[in-house]
Amino acid sequence: MHSHPGPGWQGLNTIDADTEGEVLAYPAGATALPLVGLTLGSDGYWSARFWEREGKRMCCRWCDKVRIVGPQSYRLYFNDNLRPAPKRRNVLKRTIDAWGRKAQNDISRLNVGIVGLGSGGSVVAEAVARIGVEQVVLIDHDRVEEHNLDRLLNATVKDIGKPKVDVAAKAIQCHSTAKRVQITALPMSIRDEVAYLAALDCDILFGCVDRPVPLEILNYAAHSHLIPVFSGAVEVQTNPQNNGLFSAHWRAHTVTPYHQCLRCNEQYNSSAVVKELDGSLDDLGYISNLPASERPRNENVFPFGLSVAAMIVNSMIRYVVAPDWWSLVRQQEHQLMTGKTQVINRECRTNCEFRQRRAAGDAERPYYLNNTPKVASRPNRLGSTLALVKKRLRSCFLRLGGR
Ligand SMILES: [Zn+2]
Ligand SMILES: [Zn+2]
Repeated sequence: MHSHPGPGWQGLNTIDADTEGEVLAYPAGATALPLVGLTLGSDGYWSARFWEREGKRMCCRWCDKVRIVGPQSYRLYFNDNLRPAPKRRNVLKRTIDAWGRKAQNDISRLNVGIVGLGSGGSVVAEAVARIGVEQVVLIDHDRVEEHNLDRLLNATVKDIGKPKVDVAAKAIQCHSTAKRVQITALPMSIRDEVAYLAALDCDILFGCVDRPVPLEILNYAAHSHLIPVFSGAVEVQTNPQNNGLFSAHWRAHTVTPYHQCLRCNEQYNSSAVVKELDGSLDDLGYISNLPASERPRNENVFPFGLSVAAMIVNSMIRYVVAPDWWSLVRQQEHQLMTGKTQVINRECRTNCEFRQRRAAGDAERPYYLNNTPKVASRPNRLGSTLALVKKRLRSCFLRLGGR
């Protein structure tokens, strides 16, 4: 790690290349750890590269970006040679007028993953398309059913039976304001290795799921892999007396090592993970014996899904564009009845397991991932995903603060 007197993304001069490629290659080789070179520009801009052994030589592979996960904001430094800033387009004129060129350049170049393409995820996908994001990964194993049509944006009767990711991919393709949008649609669970690796290749993840296992995997991504996760949940309570609406509230969570994890903020618990894995979470006999408060709930309506999706997309935008003096917001909750939106800033419990997993990278992974992806019928998609996974070596993140 060293600094340069110039601003912006920094290249390597001969002395740098010799030092990193020859002098540092030996200790890196002895520890069998990857070697990452970092340069700091005079304006605080980070640039980075990986060094990989090819035969007897060390080869330099430039990272396409450096990401710094902070408490208040996400700092993104792009290698313009590999990830050029998009040209100004008239279709995004009003958006750029609103948040400026710098924010647009960052947002366009994010690789955005959406896990769960139901009532929340389908709206998030629409927002991601409209704000000009160029790379999107969609993960959901579900297919469209008739009873989804009251709350699944862009789905019609003709889509019944199709994978939800395909419906979202088609909509993004049609509605994107980016010059070119690259969509990876994975009709599988995030428990499948291919989907898990594709998620780890993202710069941010939207968690639009309510099952315990996917929520825990998102918790790993946020803590072990430092990928900011924006997750939301809607809870509707019906009145048993008249079967009418009793109350509704929705929450948006920003999850990074500086924010409360999804387990500590009670989006799931470890016993529910075990029950989902052994199948009892879907066992009707088991469910009917649960107290009413613990039964899985599916009540939701389109406007509530729309609100929670907007809340989580705005949490993401806030995290990307916020200057350091904006206050920290970990969670937000809106109550339909009182009309109040409040900020909740709780932190992880002191004995939270995910504190130990921070920045552990591949050393920590959920034990229940499926290694055999079910994508035999879709070789083109699998091929592009593997290419994407390989490309992961080109991106790199940096963490600020102590462990
Ligand atoms: Zn240098
Ligand atoms: Zn926690």
